[in-house]
Amino acid sequence: MNILTSIGRKHLNGHKGLTAEKKVVRYDPDYVYISATDNKGVELQDILPVGSKVKCQTVLGKRADFGIPVLSSVSGEIVEIKKVFNKSLLRPANYFVIKNDKKYETEKSEPVTKDLTKEELAKFLQDHGYTGMGGAAFPTFIKYKTDAKIDHILINDVECEPYLTTDYAATFEEMENVIYAAEKLANTMGVKDVVIAIKKTKAKAIEHINNCLKDHPLIRLVCVKDVYPAGYERTLIKMIFHKEYKALPSEVGIIVNNFQTMAWIGSTLRTGVRPTSRIYTFSGEALKEPQNVLAPSGTLINEIIDNVCGLKATKYTILSGGPMMGRPLRQSDIPLAEADSGVTVLPLAQLEVGKAVPCLRCGICVDHCPMYLQPVLMFQALKRNDYNAANKLGILSCVECGLCSAVCPSHIELTAKFSASKPIVKIKTIKK
Ligand code: SF4
Ligand code: SF4
Repeated sequence: MNILTSIGRKHLNGHKGLTAEKKVVRYDPDYVYISATDNKGVELQDILPVGSKVKCQTVLGKRADFGIPVLSSVSGEIVEIKKVFNKSLLRPANYFVIKNDKKYETEKSEPVTKDLTKEELAKFLQDHGYTGMGGAAFPTFIKYKTDAKIDHILINDVECEPYLTTDYAATFEEMENVIYAAEKLANTMGVKDVVIAIKKTKAKAIEHINNCLKDHPLIRLVCVKDVYPAGYERTLIKMIFHKEYKALPSEVGIIVNNFQTMAWIGSTLRTGVRPTSRIYTFSGEALKEPQNVLAPSGTLINEIIDNVCGLKATKYTILSGGPMMGRPLRQSDIPLAEADSGVTVLPLAQLEVGKAVPCLRCGICVDHCPMYLQPVLMFQALKRNDYNAANKLGILSCVECGLCSAVCPSHIELTAKFSASKPIVKIKTIKK
């Protein structure tokens, strides 16, 4: 895989072979930990008390911001609500602790065979608590609760982040659900073109998708270049439709869903079962046995590392996600969320930490930024604690794709600096 743009073109090893063709293994934890707050740390409303018996899909509470439910991922009993480190909030927050009876009994709903109106579809997506499974966790119903004229639904199966193969593994399991959802959603939205996007190098998956799509003329497969960040929504829309937008793809008539989000919607529509376990990629050269692991959301990262993969390095770094967009974790007893794609565990020796030298002012980071930002100037502003300047330079638009760090010949950890500084910039530059 290469990094996108011709200037300073650099090969990026995808490392996908560590897990891509391995059989997905199942892991059943004794306990799961489900967040009792939203992504901003606000407590859920109407939460179930300790002692409640639950099934998969039981509503544990509702998010105040979007009114979407948070669901149990296992059947069993809520035994405690306690503080656990939340990797999105970067601090401990309340979590439901649910003892898993391992029966996976489910609060099944009725399959949906009739045509849905737009209002019914948005309500269905909201009531089942879907958020994007590609990492951003954006509530899915908002994408479909739009007055914009939608011409295309784009199903993102590109997965360009190195090491991660969760969408790739799901491709061989989930096409029936994806097709069911795609056709139903397209019908509701009046869409005549559904695109599944995948990298052209994934020959086996391409063959499988093409076989599955034979009798479904509404859906077409588009194979894109093997570059990073082809899977990033803006880049993908530009590559396929030659369009750009300001805030949401619906401005240019497009709704984008991650492949597995679409699969889960399809499962619920088709069978009445809203999945609560997903495939997490556990990869990296520090693991004895990198694997794709099917586990209920809320499983602790360290349990899978200890019980499924095993460690072979003594000094390592654990990243939530892959090496480009992932964040290093200071501890591993952290629950996996539905939006997580996986975990990468790298030997310290493989990282370029501590190798940074002064900036050469070469401008390569500027040439590569998909958000057209000037990383070098933002970095300098942050170094002198000038948060207003960083804000004016657009740091809050940084999507933390990791490209500037990856191409920097001085090995400067630009993305890590932006990621750590964005919350401070927000606080310091709020207009009073
Ligand atoms: S991490 Fe941010 S600044 Fe760096 S290339 Fe990506 S979007 Fe641009
Ligand atoms: S931060 Fe790195 S890529 Fe950017 S101008 Fe400096 S040396 Fe070049």
